[in-house]
This record gives sequence, C-alpha cells and structure tokens, in this order.
Amino acid sequence: MEKEICWNITSRCNQKCKYCHRFLNTVDLTYDENINILNNLEKNGVTSITWTGGEALLLNGIDDLLKLSYEKGIKNKIITNGKLLTKKRIDKIYKYLDSITLSIDSINDDINDSLGRGKSHFEEIKTILDYIKEKEYDVKVRINSVVCKNNINNFYDLTNFLNNYNIYSWRIFKFMPLRGTAVINKESFDISLSEYNEVVKYIKSNSKIKNIDTRVQDDMEKKYVLILANGDIVITNKGKDEKVGNALNDSLDLFL
Ligand code: SF4
Repeated sequence: MEKEICWNITSRCNQKCKYCHRFLNTVDLTYDENINILNNLEKNGVTSITWTGGEALLLNGIDDLLKLSYEKGIKNKIITNGKLLTKKRIDKIYKYLDSITLSIDSINDDINDSLGRGKSHFEEIKTILDYIKEKEYDVKVRINSVVCKNNINNFYDLTNFLNNYNIYSWRIFKFMPLRGTAVINKESFDISLSEYNEVVKYIKSNSKIKNIDTRVQDDMEKKYVLILANGDIVITNKGKDEKVGNALNDSLDLFL
C-alpha cells in the first residue's frame, strides 16, 4: 500500500497568490537536516512524497534531494508554479519525478495578475508544457487550478488550452479560506459551492483530460499528513492545524 506524505519543503514563494493558504513563517531547515528527514521517511516506509511549498524549487539543494529520494525508490511528485522550471532544469530533474504539477488558473494575463501570479504566468506555463511535449519526456504532467471570483468565467479558455497537451490529471480546488492570505481575501475571492460545481461540470464535459479531481475545504481535513519546512508534522482537523510531531526526530508510524 502507498504511504504518502506532502512535504512543504519551504514556506518561501516567488508568487503572491491572493488565495494562498500556505503555512507562513516557518524557517527552512538546512540541507543536512532535510536529508535526515528523508532518511526518517524512508525508515518509516514512505513510498511517495509530494514536494511543495511555498515554491519547492526555491529551496537550495532541492534538485539533489529529489535525486536522493528517487534513488531510495520513493515516488516523487512536485507541485510548482513553474517560475524556476527552466528547460535546463526540466532536463536535469524530470528523471527523478513521477509527476510535475503545474499551477494555472487562467490563460488571461490580467486575471493572472489580479490573482497575484503575475502577467507572465501563462507564458511561463505554456513554455513548460510545450517543452515537455516536444521532448516527449516520460513524466506525468498534472494541473492544479483554483476556482475563485476572479477566474470563474474563464474556464472555457483554460479548458481549450489544456486540451492541446497530454495532461495526466487536473485537480480543481474551490477557493478555501483555510489560513494566511486566503483568510484576508475571503470577501473578494470566495464563491459558493454551487458556482464551483457548475465550473467542475463544465470542465468534466469539455476537457479531454481523463482524470478530473475536485477539492473543497472538507477534503483537506485529516486527509493529508503534512510536513512543514521546519519539520513539524501537521494534520488539519475541523479547520484547525494540529502539530502532532516533528519529522526530524519522531516516528511517522502513527500518522501513515
Ligand atoms: S498558492 Fe502556491 S504559488 Fe501561489 S503564493 Fe501560495 S505557495 Fe506560492
């Protein structure tokens, strides 16, 4: 059976998404400390790691950690906003990855700017998708999108755009004011469940992507074991984050 964890390897990010609910203000561990966590995960039989953040590719030494994890036989999945995923870096790390998840919520530059991703975001994601397609790299490409007030009417364009690529799965998140910036921006970004369901229905009928997956706030409860950048192990329960240990020293047996 798969033993999966989600590792928020850094809380730093190079985008400023207004719906972001990442854990803020956790300090990155050193490279050696992260290796110790990786060894602990291996010892506890973890078979799959989702590397995320913040922006995971910002962390010094992340490429080497991915390689090491791959060599331990762990399945690596990375979630990235793509800003640092140059062609050269794709060439270097794709072989250590089972999948690359790219975050994109719209193909419209103004909407991306209003979401805090910046005007160049669509072009950056398109360059990555075109390159992986051209090289026929053996890595699954997944997409994450957040539906909120700013982009709710623009999924027609995004669905059409993504239909040009061989995308393995598309995970569609409802805006979730879980913590951090998302809580501050709740009023301007929140949508109703029925509005969200309409978008999902449209995508399911019009997308060529076979695996369409949905996420609302309840799905984040007790479903994921998270390791934060400082090593803390966190489980979200009834909207509250509970620290249940630290992956540098504690066994993960109880949580997996
Ligand atoms: S949603 Fe992701 S890319 Fe956007 S600011 Fe948060 S961590 Fe960064």
